[in-house]
Amino acid sequence: MSHIRVRFAPSPTGYLHIGGLRTALYNYLFAKKNGGKFILRIEDTDQKRFVTGAIESLVRVMETMSLVPDEGVFLGGGKPIQKGDKGPYIQSERLDLYKKYAEELLANRKAYRCFCSPESLEALRAEQTANKQAPRYDKRCFTLTPDEIERKMAAGEQYVLRLNVDIARGDVIFNDLVRGEVKINAKDIDDQVLMKSDGFPTYHLANVVDDHLMEITHIIRGEEWLPSTPKHILLYEAFGWEMPEFAHIPLLLNPDKSKLSKRQGDVSVEDYLKKGYLKEALINFIALLGWNPGQGSTQEIFSLEELIQTFDLKNVHKAGAVFDLQKLNWMNAEYIKKLSVDDLYLAALSGNFLKKPLIKNAPSTAQTPEYLKRLLTIEQNRLAKLSDIGDNNQFFFVAQLSYDTDFLNWKQNSSVMTKEAIVKAREILSGLTDTEWFQKETLEKVLLDAAGEKRGDFLWPLRAALTGAEKSPSPFDVAWVLGKEESLKRIEDALKMLG
Ligand code: GLU
Repeated sequence: MSHIRVRFAPSPTGYLHIGGLRTALYNYLFAKKNGGKFILRIEDTDQKRFVTGAIESLVRVMETMSLVPDEGVFLGGGKPIQKGDKGPYIQSERLDLYKKYAEELLANRKAYRCFCSPESLEALRAEQTANKQAPRYDKRCFTLTPDEIERKMAAGEQYVLRLNVDIARGDVIFNDLVRGEVKINAKDIDDQVLMKSDGFPTYHLANVVDDHLMEITHIIRGEEWLPSTPKHILLYEAFGWEMPEFAHIPLLLNPDKSKLSKRQGDVSVEDYLKKGYLKEALINFIALLGWNPGQGSTQEIFSLEELIQTFDLKNVHKAGAVFDLQKLNWMNAEYIKKLSVDDLYLAALSGNFLKKPLIKNAPSTAQTPEYLKRLLTIEQNRLAKLSDIGDNNQFFFVAQLSYDTDFLNWKQNSSVMTKEAIVKAREILSGLTDTEWFQKETLEKVLLDAAGEKRGDFLWPLRAALTGAEKSPSPFDVAWVLGKEESLKRIEDALKMLG
């Protein structure tokens, strides 16, 4: 058994960001590939950002996406439950631990109390900016004497704990598994707040303490956390703890190369699921945002199992990855094509895509499972997402079509010719039994034979009568979906219009 342990450590914001899904996925793949453990930890120490039900919805989406952790937070009876011997895995339940470790740093002078008010910090920042210096805390509280500290505390002055960065330490260097050597000078690292005045830890302290106590070996996270890593390294050093490996995965970008944002499209996994993207397609697509199989492979379609086999941090790119919706649509369409019609129907049913007003308001005969499965058979190869079902073929769901009589005429044909064609179609179709009708090939063959050489003369009026639409699948397919009774009704309606 490998000792590899990785974690996904989201802050519960109420939804799972597509970038979070990718971070979770890469951690999951890395763990599974290497026989390690994947841990889900909830980082909820920022009380200002508390959202009710956020943990539940996060865990639920992770489960939906099949990214189930080995340890950490799960759902039991709809509520968060925790499994594993390194818990609790919810940071707000670990406050005593952070306090204990903060006190250890304080005792070793690796951290110090800072009593500066927000106003004086603001003034300091303004002064530094005016002097064209990078804003950083000037350590003025580091030199407070024990007496001064005691007096301030006795007077009830609020304070935070800051990391005591030793500027003389020089470069902080680490080897990122994606980005290679990263170097930053200690003079460019601020004396980071570790404990806030309300007794809550900041992200930095809680994250490092937990990664250590939970024996995390590899920290795989988004590039936006790269600037935090030198601070974390100083913390590991301050505690004298063994350093984990780091891998920072590239930013997700909008097509215009700006950071992926809500303004340019959906960013939550839930939004994509709601639109009818299949979870397998989403996982596949997300996996390729920042990673490729390497070795000249051009494979693009991967099952989760194949991703586990193929995934390697070596093949994660440094450059930002553009979120290309068209590619997602293409990929989703590929996954939809691969489903059996029964599975497609079940996916559509369970995702509530058959409850849209178009279908819900249709005659009951157009809502039966058999009818909808025939529709899906026809649409399957053209669907980009499940929410598109029926949208391009609305005529399948209306009780009464509306079109101009002229619409029934093929090119310059007269309405007499059109009527002849439709009468002929009525004759042929009414002669079919239901069993013959629902053999798609039989229906097609009978109509094609009847059409003879000049197909348009016969097939256009029939298709027009059945759909009333400029564009639609072939008349055979349409008739097959509609069934005998409804098809003949539409034909009669057309004949009535023709007089
Ligand atoms: N809580 C951080 C987040 O929301 C975790 C970052 C990390 O993985 O260290 O993404």
